[in-house]
Amino acid sequence: MKHTMPELPYAPEALAPAMSKETFDYHYGKHLQTYVDNLNRLIAGTPYEAMTLDQIVRKSEGAIYNNAAQTWNHTFFFLMLTPEQRPMPQRLAERLAAEFGSVEAFKEEFAKAAAGLFGSGWVWLAADKGGKLHILAESNAGNPMTRGMRPLMTLDVWEHAYYIDYRNRRADFIGAWWGLIDWDKVAERCFPARYGCTSCDYVYDPATGDPESGIKAGTAFEEIPDDWVCPVCGLYKDAFAPLPEQ
Ligand code: MN
Repeated sequence: MKHTMPELPYAPEALAPAMSKETFDYHYGKHLQTYVDNLNRLIAGTPYEAMTLDQIVRKSEGAIYNNAAQTWNHTFFFLMLTPEQRPMPQRLAERLAAEFGSVEAFKEEFAKAAAGLFGSGWVWLAADKGGKLHILAESNAGNPMTRGMRPLMTLDVWEHAYYIDYRNRRADFIGAWWGLIDWDKVAERCFPARYGCTSCDYVYDPATGDPESGIKAGTAFEEIPDDWVCPVCGLYKDAFAPLPEQ
């Protein structure tokens, strides 16, 4: 498949002043575009051409991994920003407090990991298979999916993410970035939705998975391979729709 740039629900200048239009234009328009172009060029004529971006990130290495993961990471990063931040959903605040002591303690630990990451990389909030949350500082194009974890949010601390606006003041960028996070999207990742088949009554529940088809408990619907079918009526994933919270 051919990989493309994510369509973003905000304008290039909408994140200013925390992220200027100039930074956005370079970061999204040039850096990310280059990773997407390189990925498409590198996978042409290889088995990776038939895989989804998730599959490539999980299975590749070297230059293909670097460009695939940078495409994945940046897509995730930009889609999780918003110019109109809303309060953190209560269930997410409670979850973070249960894992890290308080929301403030979580933010402190995350910011410390981001400020302390040596060189280029990404800081992540990720859930392991048991559902426990972790803060991970990954160098270069690192992505928690390669460790079997589900990414919940990420911060790009490559210099190209902040140098135009903040020069060497990475901590100032981290501080401003907190005001751009779409907490609703983080909550959606943290509490994977149940999905219902639109042609029969089957409901996919991430808490139980679909072990008979090899889908482990704890697998979000988005993470199920595309060739999976409804165990009741046999329709493909695109026949499913997310169900409201219980
Ligand atoms: Mn970047």
